[in-house]
Amino acid sequence: MEPILEKFGMSEEMSGAGCGSWMDCSGEIMPSTSPIDGKLLGKVRCAAENEYETIVERATEAFKTWRKIPAPQRGDVVRQIGNALRDHKKDLGELITLEMGKLRVEGEGEVQEMVDMADYAVGQSRMLYGLTMPSERGGHRMYEQWHPLGPVGVITSFNFPVAPWAWNAMLALVAGDTVIWKPSSKVPMTAIATMKIVWEVFNKNLLPEGVCNLMIGSRNTIGDPLIRDRRVALISATGSVAMGLHVGQVVASRLGKSILELGGNNAVIVTPRADLKMAVKAILFGAVGTAGQRCTTTRRVIVHEDIYDLMVESLINAYRQIPIGNPLADGILMGPLVDSEAVDSMQTALSQLKEQGGQILYGGDILSGGIYDAGTYVVPAIGEAAANLPIVRQETFAPILYLIKYRQLEEAIGNNNLVSQGLSSSIFTNDLIEAETFLSLKGSDCGIANVNVGTSGAEIGGAFGGEKDTGGGREAGSDVWKSYMRRQTCTINWSGKLPLAQGIEFEINSGLRRPEVGNRNSACDELSRVEGGKGKQG
Ligand code: NAD
Repeated sequence: MEPILEKFGMSEEMSGAGCGSWMDCSGEIMPSTSPIDGKLLGKVRCAAENEYETIVERATEAFKTWRKIPAPQRGDVVRQIGNALRDHKKDLGELITLEMGKLRVEGEGEVQEMVDMADYAVGQSRMLYGLTMPSERGGHRMYEQWHPLGPVGVITSFNFPVAPWAWNAMLALVAGDTVIWKPSSKVPMTAIATMKIVWEVFNKNLLPEGVCNLMIGSRNTIGDPLIRDRRVALISATGSVAMGLHVGQVVASRLGKSILELGGNNAVIVTPRADLKMAVKAILFGAVGTAGQRCTTTRRVIVHEDIYDLMVESLINAYRQIPIGNPLADGILMGPLVDSEAVDSMQTALSQLKEQGGQILYGGDILSGGIYDAGTYVVPAIGEAAANLPIVRQETFAPILYLIKYRQLEEAIGNNNLVSQGLSSSIFTNDLIEAETFLSLKGSDCGIANVNVGTSGAEIGGAFGGEKDTGGGREAGSDVWKSYMRRQTCTINWSGKLPLAQGIEFEINSGLRRPEVGNRNSACDELSRVEGGKGKQG
């Protein structure tokens, strides 16, 4: 057995579902293999219909208890989760690398992102602010408050096995919601290890089971019932555009809430006024980091024609120096793709590039010999293409970078916006007018727009997500916590009169007389002389 699993007290065959402790699952056995060498990491007994029902029931029940705990106390539990993850950063990072194939530093970085999210949410637990607004009617107070929403379903993708769970769960927990996590079936061991860490915190705090739940299973048995379930108030789904189209429509058909974090096709514009050294470094990390398997991976570089040849030369020179190999080893900058299907889809995309009139300038080969015989290692590719080629406009989840020439900045921005996805974008320039044009309303149409910063990765303090086919969802920082709560607008009438909105008169003589209660109402009587006012009719 992989020694790392022992560190988490895991066995070779694990249950794939639980609410705070593991359940006996009745679903199929699912293997998890490492893309590093193709070896079996462990097996998971998946959840089936019975376990599904038990988990959703427990999450619904636990919500009634969890929501009553004051938000700062919920925040304290999240603080403890953050600390527990901190303690396991190295081991959990290594397991991410073993199961998904990203570099060790990237695996540990993903755990750090969970810790950062926990820290952020702890502060947020004391800042679930509602606004107070002046009423148009005298002797009336109007304000809004935020209440917990209910059980939240979190569906995550393989490439970030745990961070998207944390972007959602940390905020959902401080908001008073319970969380049901359906991770990608490609990375189940990492999800199991994470839940073990989290449940220990819940158990130590003597909290009921059902606040943080895990169910690993197939799309048909687990995924589809989850998105259709009216008990689940919000579905937050991270993954491909195809998945989001389906999930978004199903959740909307029951008028549920959804957060969709879908595919990207991110471009960097490099102008003649750019610091080219900095641009090349950012593009290299953006395109090759995580072997091109980030939603924010740089997939297109739109380069001014005057510096095009220089950029091609510099990038090819940089690509030649990338050490490709075991992502656990020091000095390696690119590990394997997640599986052989990903390698196949990269090969198909490169063939289509040629068929559609583009050309491969560098790389694209499948590596073999030694560790490479796992069949998951490739040489990252650089292609040259027109901006409107169909293959350039789709997201291929592999390290292929398309270089596109431009002459005018407007044309470059047009090409940036030409694709159906709208996640991340950036411009490299030291020219203020170019930078501000890119950031202006006629500039990038993406959810993320950077100047002299690459497209890949983001800090948790900002709202993360994208427009168009990327789904429009936002996760992590800024005011995103509101998505996990329900807003209630309250109007309190202390005037002793009943002025109607829009100054409407609706008088009847009910025959009732106001009881005498001393002069308690004299102050509000004074105020309520200012009656009427126009409110919203509705
Ligand atoms: P995927 O769409 O194949 O799967 C993502 C998740 O959705 C998995 O857990 C899968 O089991 C689940 N799923 C699929 N169909 C479902 C259905 N009908 N009902 C319920 N669940 C369903 O994506 P993937 O290959 O794991 O991840 C790569 C994709 O994710 C890329 O397109 C990438 O850009 C995107 N991604 C986006 C973000 C973002 O924040 N925008 C972050 C990471 C990854």
